[in-house]
Formats: sequence, C-alpha cells, structure tokens
Amino acid sequence: GAVIGILGGGQLGRMLSVAASRLGFRTHVFEPGANPPAGHVADRVTTAPYEDEAALRAFAETVDVITYEFENIPTSALDVLEALRPIHPNREALRISQDRLTEKTFLTEQGLTVAPFADIPDAAALEAALETVGTPSILKTRRFGYDGKGQARLKAPSDAAGALEAMAGAPAVLEGFVDFSCEISVIAARGPSGEVAAFDPGQNVHRDGILRTTTVPAKVPQRLLTDAVLAAAKVLNALDYVGVLGVEFFVTPQGLIVNEIAPRVHNSGHWTQNGCAVDQFEQHIRAVAGWPLGDGKRHADVVMENLIGDDMDRLPDLAKTPDCALHLYGKADVRPGRKMGHVNRITRG
Ligand code: ATP
Ligand code: MG
Ligand code: MG
Repeated sequence: GAVIGILGGGQLGRMLSVAASRLGFRTHVFEPGANPPAGHVADRVTTAPYEDEAALRAFAETVDVITYEFENIPTSALDVLEALRPIHPNREALRISQDRLTEKTFLTEQGLTVAPFADIPDAAALEAALETVGTPSILKTRRFGYDGKGQARLKAPSDAAGALEAMAGAPAVLEGFVDFSCEISVIAARGPSGEVAAFDPGQNVHRDGILRTTTVPAKVPQRLLTDAVLAAAKVLNALDYVGVLGVEFFVTPQGLIVNEIAPRVHNSGHWTQNGCAVDQFEQHIRAVAGWPLGDGKRHADVVMENLIGDDMDRLPDLAKTPDCALHLYGKADVRPGRKMGHVNRITRG
C-alpha cells in the first residue's frame, strides 16, 4: 500500500491520518514538536526541525506523496522535499496563502472582493494607510498568524502606535474592518483531473479571533452560498490545485468579501465528519492520492462546536448528550485558547 507523508502533527494531521488509514494507506508524519496529536495514530513519526535536511530527505524517501496540515512550512524544507516527491497542494498555493499580502493581491486578481487593505512595512506606511484604509481597521502580520494571533484592532488613529508595537517589527497589512452580518466558509476540493467538489457552506461564529461554532445549513440566501462555492472553485482552478481548500467569507449587504484562504483541511469543515458520507479529511486524502473525489453530499444538519481550554470540563455532560459525536485530539495538557477537541451535534438527522 502507498504511504502518505504529512507535514505537521497537530489535530488536522491526526484526522488526516485516520482518514488515510481508513482508505488502506499508511501515514508518516513529520513534526518538529514532541508528542504530537497525530503521533498516536500515524504509522510512523519523524521528530525533527524543518531545518534538518537529512531528516527531511529520509522522510521523503519513505513516502509516495507529501501533503501538509498547515501552511507555514519553510521554503527551504519544501525545496528539499519537492526534489524527491510530489507535494499536494502545490508550492504556488502555499506561497500565496503563506502571506496575507500576496493572498489578497491574488484574490483581487481573480476578481474576488477583499476588505480594503494596505501593505505596512513600517510606521510611515501605517501613517499613510490611516488616510486610505482608515479606522476601524485591523493590523495583521503578513505571515504566521492563526486563531487571531498577530492581530491588533484600531478603533481610532490614536491606536496606531500601540498596534504597530504589537507587531514587533513584523511586516503587516492594515485591513479595513468589515461590518459583516455573518461569516461563512466553503470547504472545497479539486482532484487530479481537475474535477471540483464543494461541501455545503457553513456559518461560522468566532470569539476572540478563534472559531467557536460552525452551523450547517448556513442561514444565508442561496444566491450567496452559490457565489461562495463559485469563488472557491475559481481559486482552486486558478491554482491548478489538488486537495482540500478552505475559503472564509464575510457576508455583507453588498455581497461576499473573502477574508482568507487556507490550503488544507479546515476547522470549519469538521462538521463533515458526521454530516457527510465522505468528510473533508477523506476528500483530501483521495485527492492527494490520485483517487476520484468522493460524494460530499450533506445528510444531516450539524452544529460543530470547538472544545477550547476549559470547555473540556463539559466532557462528562457532552458524553451523555444524545446526537453528539465527540472528536478529541489526545492533547495531554489543557491550556486557555488551546483547541482540545470538537463536538458535532446532529440537529436534524
Ligand atoms: P484562522 O486562520 O485561525 O481562521 P486568523 O488568525 O488567520 O485565523 P482571521 O481569519 O484573519 O484570523 O481573523 C479571525 C476573525 O477575526 C475572523 O474570522 C473575523 O471574525 C475577525 N476579523 C478578521 N478580520 C476582520 C475584518 N477585516 N473585519 C471584521 N472582522 C474581522
Ligand atoms: Mg488564517
Ligand atoms: Mg480565519
């Protein structure tokens, strides 16, 4: 059987490993950190930093294809790996989504709408952007942000100095604050022969920059849901993409605004594990393994709720609640803001 190499051993890598194993594949996870959540389910784990070329080479030689669970893989590591095995989704998808500035530029080129934004390399640029983008707005680091980390909100121009300080010298973008009525996301996949499939869009609620719940079906006019799926397909095709992609949108009275894209399985797609015959993890493995895409038709209404930090105290109750499917990541220590698991509540089966 083929071996699938997965860069990153967090919960997404763990759930990708489970899906791969269900299809008869073996998995080899590459993860710098000790005791990763994927380590308990992968067939093999390499613990080494992305700077360790010999470890990367040895990893690549044991696998047939390489995929990843997060987008911040150093370019140097990708250079080593790409010379040895195919990487899906491809380098271009990674390059664009690693950096909020290239991402927003790319999305605009595709004819999609993003929030007003400006490149902020330094204090002078921020001063100028206060005239164009204005406030309220959000300063975001171009790279490495997730779960709302690396962001500072500007209510008024007087917040600029403090916000820039919070960036600690990292290149940033200033983004106009979008007065959205709700947020939705599309989890879509593209297969090796260019076929595209999308799961039903989910409606997302964030708290403190972290996803709390995803609800399907989204309570948004069908016209906008169709627009969202078409936008995701446009991105997939433009990137000649193979695998699952997550696209986050703001819904506004003027239509959809793309927030960001993620070249991987996505937290807001976890509902598919209990709402579809083929979930996002299987869909991703199918695509990167060169299989036809599966049927991601939704067969239930689902509310996915993340279990973050102390939410784990509710476990005894949740375990007794009917219609709740628990997915726990096997993380040993509970920390505030740490994603420990999620629950998929079937609200209509
Ligand atoms: P992740 O990758 O984990 O989804 P992130 O750190 O990349 O998160 P964003 O998606 O940029 O963060 O922002 C997190 C949330 O903050 C958004 O889902 C939205 O609720 C809010 N937010 C971000 N940008 C804006 C904006 N321009 N206007 C209004 N709200 C915003
Ligand atoms: Mg993000
Ligand atoms: Mg986001």
